[in-house]
Amino acid sequence: MTAFALRNVTLGYDGHPAVHHLEGRIAKGSLTAIVGPNGSGKSTLLKGLVGFLDPIDGTIERVGFKPQDIAYLPQAASLDASFPAKVSDLVGLGLWRKRGLFSSFLHEDAHDVHHALEAVGLAGFDNRPLDTLSGGQLQRALFARVMLQDARVILLDEPFTAIDQRTVEDLLSLVQRWHGERRTVVAVLHDYDMVRACFPDSVLLAREAVAWGPTRDTLKQENLARARAMHEAWDDHAPWCAKDVA
Ligand code: ADP
Ligand code: MG
Repeated sequence: MTAFALRNVTLGYDGHPAVHHLEGRIAKGSLTAIVGPNGSGKSTLLKGLVGFLDPIDGTIERVGFKPQDIAYLPQAASLDASFPAKVSDLVGLGLWRKRGLFSSFLHEDAHDVHHALEAVGLAGFDNRPLDTLSGGQLQRALFARVMLQDARVILLDEPFTAIDQRTVEDLLSLVQRWHGERRTVVAVLHDYDMVRACFPDSVLLAREAVAWGPTRDTLKQENLARARAMHEAWDDHAPWCAKDVA
C-alpha cells in the first residue's frame, strides 16, 4: 500500500527547480530516511510531501489522507523559541486538529499534554517558559506535540541535529514506536550509521534522487560517491531543467 506516489516531480522556488525528476513511492507504514549533502533538496522534498510547495512539474499523490492529516516538524531553525509561551502551550498545539482552533483548553487536554510530556522525558515541564529550554528539551517538546497530533503520517526535518546524544536516543525510540504503530514516518537525517541501523528505506538526494529504495542498496558507497559528484556539478543558474532540453 502506498502513502505517497511521486511522478516526475520538480520542486522549487519562484519557478527555479531545487530538486527534480523525482519518481518513487513511500509505502504506507514504512520508515524512510531522506539523506544527501547540504542543499541537495531534502527539506524541499519534505515541503512538497506536506503540501507547502506545489510541484512545478509532475504530481505528488497522497493516498487516503490530506496534507492537514500530516504531522510535520520543520527544521529547527524555523522555530522562534523566544516566543512568550509555556511548554504546555506549544505541546497543546498538537490538539488543534482534534479540538478545533478556538475551542477552550479542556481539563482532558491538560491531561493529554501532561501524558505526552512524560512520554518524551519532560514530566513536570508543563509551565516552563519555552525560552528556558535547552535545544534538546525543546526538541523533546516538539516531539510531544507531534505525539498529540496522533497523525498516521509523520514528517521530521533533521529531528536529531544539534541535540545531545541522550535526547537523540530517546527520540529515536519514539520514532521506532511510531513505526511499530504502523504510522508512515519520513525523516531527513545526516547520520548514515543511524539510517543503516534503524531506517529500512531511504532516499538519497543530490538535486534529484540518486537512489530510492531499501537502505542497504541506497547507501552503497558507489551511490554516496555519485551523490557527492552530482551535487558538486549542479549549477544553480542553469536554465530550467536543462537536462530535458539537452
Ligand atoms: P537541504 O534541506 O537538502 O539542505 P533545501 O531543500 O533546503 O536543501 O534546499 C535546496 C535548494 O533550494 C538550495 O539551493 C536552497 O538554497 C534552495 N532553497 C531552499 N529554500 C528556499 C527558498 N525559500 N527560496 C529559494 N530557494 C530556496
Ligand atoms: Mg534542510
